Amino acid sequence: MIQFKNLHKRFGKLVVLDGLDLNIKKGGIFAVLGPNGSGKTTLIKCLLGMVIPQKGDIFYNDKSVLKKWNYRNELNYLPQIANFPPNLSVLELIQMVKNLRPKESNEQELIDLFGLNDSLNKKLGNLSGGTKQKVNLVLTFMFDSNLIILDEPTTGLDPISLIHLKELIQKEKAKGKTILITTHIMSFVNEVADEIVFILDGKIYFKGTIGELKKQTNNNDLEHAIANLI
Ligand code: ADP
Repeated sequence: MIQFKNLHKRFGKLVVLDGLDLNIKKGGIFAVLGPNGSGKTTLIKCLLGMVIPQKGDIFYNDKSVLKKWNYRNELNYLPQIANFPPNLSVLELIQMVKNLRPKESNEQELIDLFGLNDSLNKKLGNLSGGTKQKVNLVLTFMFDSNLIILDEPTTGLDPISLIHLKELIQKEKAKGKTILITTHIMSFVNEVADEIVFILDGKIYFKGTIGELKKQTNNNDLEHAIANLI
């Protein structure tokens, strides 16, 4: 479904992606892991066309996305940092996003799930980090899409919301969707990921199932297995 081919990206002298190759097949949950600064967000932003690589190409369903790509019609993206307009209310923002994308949406179901009914008229600038993240999740999951990209989706979430997030992701997987997640929360990876994609030194250092990772590193604990990879 997605192919990254010989992707090179540097910022000034800093080489972030160094000839990265990666194929992601359709359907399933892929955890994109790697140390801080290893290029996880850069990789995602290249796919979204928000960062332009110096070299290489990216294909989505066999079409290059580097030339002309309106990803909003193809995928749902949860950014790591949601820059919400502080003076808008939650409801106004949801309405605005709905107007931008005239497609069927199920925001009320998600507002109920994350307990946001009492926050709908609050200004976004006055919300806690966790509540903002729940709004971020509503905006991401309210439209149907074949590809869902979640950059650090667990940030600031309370344990109950974390369970709801896991269920949401698993529900999408059951519908045949492809989900890419970057996260530092290993228990989350353990519970939801079908495959791990580990980035190091600008390349894919490991790609495989959690079982394969444990076997390769001879370690049954996921956190230690990942530490042993490097
Ligand atoms: P990760 O998501 O794995 O933590 P990032 O992709 O965010 O890593 O960043 C990789 C490296 O590239 C970091 O050192 C970061 O500071 C740098 N970087 C990211 N975006 C830019 C940018 N727009 N300008 C300069 N440096 C950047």
